[in-house]
Amino acid sequence: MEIKAALHEINEAAARQPAGIVHAPIVMDGVLEAGALAKIAPYIRLRGFASVALVADDNTWNAAGERLAASLAEAGIACAVCRLKANGQGDVIADERTIVQVLLETPRDAEAVLAVGSGTINDVVRFACFQTGRVFISVPTAASVDGFTSVGAPIITDGFKQTVPAIAPEAIFADLDVLAAAPQRLTAAGFADMLGKFTSLADWRFSQRMAGEHYCPLAYELTERALQQCLDTVDEIAAGSRRGVEVLMEALLLSGWSMLLVGHSRPASGGEHHLSHHWEMAYIAEGRRQLLHGAKVGVASVMLAKLYRDALGEAYPDIFGRLPESGQLQAWLRRAGGPADPGEIGLTDALIAESMREAHKLRDRYTGLKHLALRG
Ligand SMILES: [Zn+2]
Repeated sequence: MEIKAALHEINEAAARQPAGIVHAPIVMDGVLEAGALAKIAPYIRLRGFASVALVADDNTWNAAGERLAASLAEAGIACAVCRLKANGQGDVIADERTIVQVLLETPRDAEAVLAVGSGTINDVVRFACFQTGRVFISVPTAASVDGFTSVGAPIITDGFKQTVPAIAPEAIFADLDVLAAAPQRLTAAGFADMLGKFTSLADWRFSQRMAGEHYCPLAYELTERALQQCLDTVDEIAAGSRRGVEVLMEALLLSGWSMLLVGHSRPASGGEHHLSHHWEMAYIAEGRRQLLHGAKVGVASVMLAKLYRDALGEAYPDIFGRLPESGQLQAWLRRAGGPADPGEIGLTDALIAESMREAHKLRDRYTGLKHLALRG
């Protein structure tokens, strides 16, 4: 997939929307295809950059970083390499420590910074590039999350997760050979991040009805279509085939672009993401190992779909009554090879109860979760 061509269609559709729904045209370059890594050096040369930096961790260096660095060297492009260090729990997280390492190890004369990795590495680099006025190029190594194209970076400071201003990538080079070679738990996490759209889309429509929140039928429809494509391809995604990761990555990109189109994360993030953020901060506070974002979102969607159907499905049948049964969501998650049960990701009953009461306070957006918590 040529990203420019895909975006042209979306921008045209956005321009046809009725007045009053504000859209920002999306400008982004790159490709999603087998062999995409080999297209990066020619792109850098075309842009006229003499010097760039590459950020990776040990896993993503082996998956793609080393090959990319070699092809840049062959093309005569100077490339500084920043290898991110894991914390005491063995995780690379988007915190103060990692941000400072990126700032220190990407020289000032590097005109672009290449983020080689999944969500966290992209988030740290997009923030560093925003702060230092450099070009950000995304090189995903797994179809694990829909945040590659985001303009905000979820950063953890002092153990608290907040989304700070950053930039979207100028170009994204997603190599199907690399994505298909990623561990299946990462692909399953991307699939689970997509399954979370069932509840995020329902929460968005609920908030439009209850709180008059900005709503865009095009962004809604694009996200829904992306979700449906994943469900239609679940067996290929479960097998981690090239075709499977291609459809999944396309869906993750579509979801990300829907957010860019409306300028907020509402199409892709509802109560299930608030629960996931709450658990993430609790795990950090307890010094526990981090879970994949999608793994948490998938389990949260199962719990929230059940809660919404049971508690709100009758009162709002057109919004919450249409959600899939939680058992169906679990079956999809398991088929893809990811966790589907709170116990599988180590959630205690106490943390679940606390998050059901408290997680809605993380954002002042209206959701079914907030509605139920306020109602008591
Ligand atoms: Zn997500």
